[in-house]
Amino acid sequence: MDERVLLQVQNLRKYFPVKGVKGPGVQAVQDVSLEIKKGETLGLVGESGCGKTTLGRTILRLYEPTAGRIIYDGKTIYDSGGFELPAPDKDGKSLPGQDGKPQVHKSKKTAPDMLPFRRKMQIIFQDPSASLDPRMTVGEIIGEAVDIHKLASSKTERTEIIKSLLSSVGLNTEHANRFPHEFSGGQQQRVGVARALAVKPEFIVCDEPISALDVSIQSQIVNMLEDMQNALGLTYLFIAHDLSVVRHISNRIGVMYLGSLVELAESYELNKHPLHPYTKTLLSAIPVPDPEKSRARSRIVLEGDIPSPMNPPAGCRFHTRCPYAKPICSEQTPEFKEYNKGHRAACHILN
Ligand code: SF4
Repeated sequence: MDERVLLQVQNLRKYFPVKGVKGPGVQAVQDVSLEIKKGETLGLVGESGCGKTTLGRTILRLYEPTAGRIIYDGKTIYDSGGFELPAPDKDGKSLPGQDGKPQVHKSKKTAPDMLPFRRKMQIIFQDPSASLDPRMTVGEIIGEAVDIHKLASSKTERTEIIKSLLSSVGLNTEHANRFPHEFSGGQQQRVGVARALAVKPEFIVCDEPISALDVSIQSQIVNMLEDMQNALGLTYLFIAHDLSVVRHISNRIGVMYLGSLVELAESYELNKHPLHPYTKTLLSAIPVPDPEKSRARSRIVLEGDIPSPMNPPAGCRFHTRCPYAKPICSEQTPEFKEYNKGHRAACHILN
C-alpha cells in the first residue's frame, strides 16, 4: 500500500430537501472528513440508513454534495467554497434559511469536467440485477463504458477488451451474448465488477457488493475483489453493514451513525481497542462460532430506534441510545479527535 493519499473528503454534507418541509430536509451525511490512501481498502460500516451509501455516491458526485470539499489525487473535484450551513439548533431542529425556506446553496463550486474522473472513480452497486440494463447483453453493458471513454480504436479491440474482462472476473467469453436475467446473482455481480473495471479505474466504491448474494457466493466475490486489488493496485471504499466482512477485507474501518463518522482506525486496532460506544455495540453483535465463547461474552443491545435523519438529535447524534450518555452529550457535538496514532473517534467520555 502506498502512503500517498488518493482521496480526501473534508466536512462533506449531503442533505436531501423534502417538499413542503422547512429546513434542510434529510441530513443524510453530516460533516464527514476522511482520507483514503492509494491501494488501501477503507471499510465503512453502520446500520441501514446511516448514510454509508449516500456518502459513497456523494464522493463520486452521483449525488451533488451540499457542502464540503472532495479532493481526488490532488485535484479538487468539489468545493463549496467555505460556505457553511448553520448547525442544527440545540433542540435538534435544523435551521431554515432566513426566509424560512430550505437553504439554497449559492456556494462557489469547483466542478471541472467530471468525465476524466468518472473513468478513474467507479462504483459496484449493491443489487446486481437492478444495476444491469435488462435490455442489453452483457457485452453491450461492458462495451458501453469502453465506448464512452473511447478506449478501443477498433471493433476487434473492443471485443477483445470485453472478452478479457469477462475472463478476469471468472465468466466465459460467450457470456457476452447473454442477457443479465440468464445469470445467477453471483454471476451478475461479476458482470458489475467487469463493467467497473472496463475503464481501468483507480478507485472503486464497492457499495454493499455482497449484501444481495447468497452466503456461499459472498466469499467468492470478496476474494475476487481482493485479487483484483492486488493485480491492478486498486483503491476501495468498501461499504457494508456486516462488520465481520468489512474487517476481513479492510486496512482501515470507518464507523458511521446517523450520517456522522463516529470512529476511524486501522482494522486490527478498531477490533481490539474500539473506543466509541456504538462501535463496541457493533462488535458485540458479531456471531462467534464457538458456543462456549459465545455464551461467555456479553452482548450490548441498544434501546430504541435510530432517530430520523430529518430531525437528528442535537449534540452527539447517538445520545438517545447510548448507555453512557451524560448531560453534555445532548448539548455539544463531540469533536472527532485522534486518541491513538491514526485512531479517531467522536465521544465526550473519551476526553
Ligand atoms: Fe455516548 Fe456521549 Fe459518547 Fe455520544 S458523546 S457516544 S452519547 S458518551
